[in-house]
Amino acid sequence: MKLVRLVYFSQASRSMSLSDLRDILETARSNNDEIAVCGMLCFENQFFLQALEGDREAVNELYLDIADDPRHEEATIISYDEVESPTFAKWQMGYAGGSESFYELLRKNGQTEFDPEQMSQTQALSFLMDMAAFQTDI
Ligand code: FAD
Repeated sequence: MKLVRLVYFSQASRSMSLSDLRDILETARSNNDEIAVCGMLCFENQFFLQALEGDREAVNELYLDIADDPRHEEATIISYDEVESPTFAKWQMGYAGGSESFYELLRKNGQTEFDPEQMSQTQALSFLMDMAAFQTDI
């Protein structure tokens, strides 16, 4: 089995309510559990930034489904790597939104507004890894 990590960002196609985000996370967590995919999702300022980790085929198929989802658009892959072991193994799908820690970390990355388009692949991954420790319960 080849283990991969895919990181992408996208823009919400409409404004996202708490219940929209809950729906996405509920589906993600139950589906990812079945296909042994884990990861981390951030949402703020209409941008999604997500890492998906798991078996190569499972991640590829899932990404195609996600990219096709009308709730967001312009999904753009930032990085795609083979990994030895998953970084986000504890979470079927972790989640962080615009908390105080979120903005503190953004400022450390030189941003005042969340805009993953401006992040390098190293910045995007380390942002997701750092935010995994400061998740938002919704
Ligand atoms: P269904 O739920 O029947 O979906 C059928 C179609 O309708 C799909 O194209 C789906 O995208 C779309 N759809 C579903 N709900 C809505 C809605 N409320 N409004 C508009 N269209 C809708 N799924 C995962 O399994 N794992 C993830 O990690 C994951 N991450 C996601 C991250 C983001 C940013 C978004 C927007 C979605 C994510 N999803 C994730 C959901 C994913 O896109 C699919 O909805 C999910 O895989 C189920 O699709 P389905 O075709 O099996 O079934």
